Amino acid sequence: MSETQSAGRVAGERVAGERVANGRILRLVKSGPELRALESGQVDAVLDRSTGTAYLLPDARRAMSAAGGQIANSLLAALPREDYQSLLGELEPVTLTAGEVLYESGERIRYVYFPGDAQVSLVIVMPDRKALEIGLVGREGMVGIALALGAEASPVRALVQGSGSALRMKAASFREALGRCLALQHELHRYAYAKLVQARQTAVCNRFHQVEARLAGWLLMTRDRVRSDQFHLTHQFVAASLGIRRVGVTNAAGALQRRKLISCRRGNIRILDRNGLKKAACGCYEIVRNLTG
Ligand SMILES: [Zn+2]
Repeated sequence: MSETQSAGRVAGERVAGERVANGRILRLVKSGPELRALESGQVDAVLDRSTGTAYLLPDARRAMSAAGGQIANSLLAALPREDYQSLLGELEPVTLTAGEVLYESGERIRYVYFPGDAQVSLVIVMPDRKALEIGLVGREGMVGIALALGAEASPVRALVQGSGSALRMKAASFREALGRCLALQHELHRYAYAKLVQARQTAVCNRFHQVEARLAGWLLMTRDRVRSDQFHLTHQFVAASLGIRRVGVTNAAGALQRRKLISCRRGNIRILDRNGLKKAACGCYEIVRNLTG
């Protein structure tokens, strides 16, 4: 591999026209073993060393992005193109499955994750095994932010809540990338600060605001994250997220249904009147939304 390097799990940006990209890949891959690896699907992308460009194969390209060629994760999408490209060799497309634990609280973080359409809950587990969800990370964020702030382990469990795509990076590569890429540092510090402000706002919200208004805001936040007015959530999960009893969720959801703002059947939630739901939500929703954009 002198001029080219075939790289399993290398990812790259979409190039104009699949046929053009595939032709270029075939020109770059000359040797037998590389070609066989390519044909057997072991290779996700081919790196052209002369230009530093990674050409993604169609399957990998689809895994990279659920949104037709755009970078699915907002933190990565916000980086200047050359910074993003400098990270590509370290980013591995993965599919996360609901119920999967990415890391346990107290455990050393081995990978950070940039979700695409996957949803990951951050959960605090008490000594008596009771668990409280303290955050949900989707395409707007990163799982493993503790590493960006200098910690080795996370105080929370990262549990996949909604199956979907993500890009992951080894902890050591991430630290190295953070050291050389100021734009990545800036994005992650901004994100961590937004999370800090959100946590403060949640403390105020839990103390002072009515369950119905909190539920309205929480449903809107979920809607923004999944980018759909319909989603599936059990009352038990909502109760754990809001730190209240299940009956409290049932009553509040009933009240929002009577106001014809949502419909809710067996955990299938549909937002019927988004503006009405915004009016029903406490001001915390807008404050957090403006921060996390
Ligand atoms: Zn509130």
